[in-house]
Amino acid sequence: MSAERSLSGRQAIVTGSNSGIGLGVARALAAAGADLVLNSFTDRPEDHALAEAMAAEFSVKARYIRADMSVGAECRALITQAGGCDILVNNAGIQHVAPIEDFPTDKWEAILAINLTSAFHTTAAALPAMRAKGWGRIVNIASAHGLTASPYKSAYIAAKHGLVGLSKTVALEAAGQGVTCNAICPGYVLTPLVEAQIPDQMKAHDMDRETVIREVMLLRQPSRQFATVEQIGGTTVFLCSAAADQITGTTLSVDGGWTAL
Ligand code: NAD
Repeated sequence: MSAERSLSGRQAIVTGSNSGIGLGVARALAAAGADLVLNSFTDRPEDHALAEAMAAEFSVKARYIRADMSVGAECRALITQAGGCDILVNNAGIQHVAPIEDFPTDKWEAILAINLTSAFHTTAAALPAMRAKGWGRIVNIASAHGLTASPYKSAYIAAKHGLVGLSKTVALEAAGQGVTCNAICPGYVLTPLVEAQIPDQMKAHDMDRETVIREVMLLRQPSRQFATVEQIGGTTVFLCSAAADQITGTTLSVDGGWTAL
């Protein structure tokens, strides 16, 4: 087996993978030879077309399965419908920004459900078969905000800190059984979600695009460079490699130095 196709014969499920980081992670896993199950809460022709295009591009099997990660039963059904997985990437996530006294309860509950509780359900459903096979990788896409805080993001930061804690706990429950569980903690990554915030920030600060990126958005990221979805994908593939067999229960920051400050 060539190093480039080191994940041939493995099936990966990536939640929230029709956009942004999830899509980048899915593409990196497919490039490494893994068969794919893509997911989001929509069920549009383009979602299924995306899976078909990736199957053709990377010569792997790829399917799209709709499941809403805010609903526990659908999280578990995703794993069952996929026929289990060797690699589980819990990536689906949303954000809402407001002071805590104004934070809408429904937004708090949705963020906790999608960014944290979904990983509890998918992991509980996927882990027994991984254990039985003696090989599995669970990669949780947390955030620099799983390790540090910023104002006005109470739900997101609580959920991401929770996801880091969940990763450590699952790692301990699976230790020595060929199954690892880790959290990747990205700083700012230039995804459609982040790109969409740039015009508002330019207006709010009366700055041009480059200045608002450097002086506002990347203020806490010492490299003053965005991480890329390809880098998060590469980090995921590394965590699925034999070199990472003993890396479990930890966080891997991809944040340009944010958490070193
Ligand atoms: P994105 O909006 O591009 O992607 C989010 C994905 O989650 C999409 O595919 C969306 O369809 C899916 N999703 C949302 N709600 C869902 C639901 N109820 N059920 C199923 N899927 C759902 O955003 P992104 O920036 O790629 O974020 C992906 C993950 O990376 C999130 O967990 C986010 O918190 C994390 N993250 C992002 C950054 C960043 O700077 N972009 C930094 C750190 C961590």
